[in-house]
Amino acid sequence: MIPSLWLGIVLSVGLNGNPAVRRFPDLVVTTPASAAAARPSAMLPGVEILPGLRDTDHFEIAKVPPPSVKASYSTVHMTQPYVAITFDDGPHATNTPRLLDILAERNIKATFFVVGKNVREYPAILRRIIAEGHEVGNHTWSHMALSTLTPDKVRQELSKTHDAVLQAAGYQMRLMRPPYGATNLRVKQICFQEFHYPSIIWTVDPLDWKQPGSSVVAQHIVAGTRSGAIILVHDIHAATIDAMPDTLDTLLAKGYHFVTVSQLLNLGDKYPVTSTVPMAIPVPEPEPTMPIPAAAAGNGAGTSLDSTIPSGAVRPVTGLPGDSN
Ligand SMILES: [Zn+2]
Repeated sequence: MIPSLWLGIVLSVGLNGNPAVRRFPDLVVTTPASAAAARPSAMLPGVEILPGLRDTDHFEIAKVPPPSVKASYSTVHMTQPYVAITFDDGPHATNTPRLLDILAERNIKATFFVVGKNVREYPAILRRIIAEGHEVGNHTWSHMALSTLTPDKVRQELSKTHDAVLQAAGYQMRLMRPPYGATNLRVKQICFQEFHYPSIIWTVDPLDWKQPGSSVVAQHIVAGTRSGAIILVHDIHAATIDAMPDTLDTLLAKGYHFVTVSQLLNLGDKYPVTSTVPMAIPVPEPEPTMPIPAAAAGNGAGTSLDSTIPSGAVRPVTGLPGDSN
């Protein structure tokens, strides 16, 4: 929480001094000075601040799921174009650092579901992930299908990884993703009730582990992404990292804004889909079927008028004080 807060303060200071604002159809896009310094701002859209969202809101959202968090998510139903990209199975010795460079160039924050064994092997890379403002979630110690394990073994897979991340980086994970998406009610209950982890599945899966090629991975992600989507890829595959520049730049150009999974859960409360349901259109008041006597119509409301309007009809408004419409 502390690194994210500090990052928020630093970026907010950068934002306040930057006047560069471009307008998209219904989106205000602001490029922070810090991001602009990292790359030519004309080439890519920068960090986007949506209407109604203060700069500080954007950068200081705690990486903690909201109190109303559910036991599992595969997408977050929301209206605003926020998405979370998640990288599983690392840290990896070379691919994860290369990915971190790509994310940093675009000022994109992601979520890494790490495997405990790899954390033990590459603690410095885990610390870099956290230092650069990304979120980390528990992806078990040995990447087994939790639905096939005894409850005690499930607990062991989670707690060993939790402790490894805590020891390596002083970071408390708040989310988990079951390997292969293999879960069931019992596993979800252990994760949620005992570890306070919501289980994070995914919305978009380009099957990058099948190594279909970078351009196919990019196409599948772009085609499947919607507001509130959780995108699944793996930072252990070089071809996935190769796909990221095009994928991320295309989604940025389409107006998507990247946040961590916990941020997405928080924003889902702020911009629920129900907020787009149009308000009921007022039904025009029925016209009186009887003509209004000229004398009554001329001087506004009169008791004599009521008797001229048939039952069920609405009395016309005649400019009473306080009526503006
Ligand atoms: Zn995995």
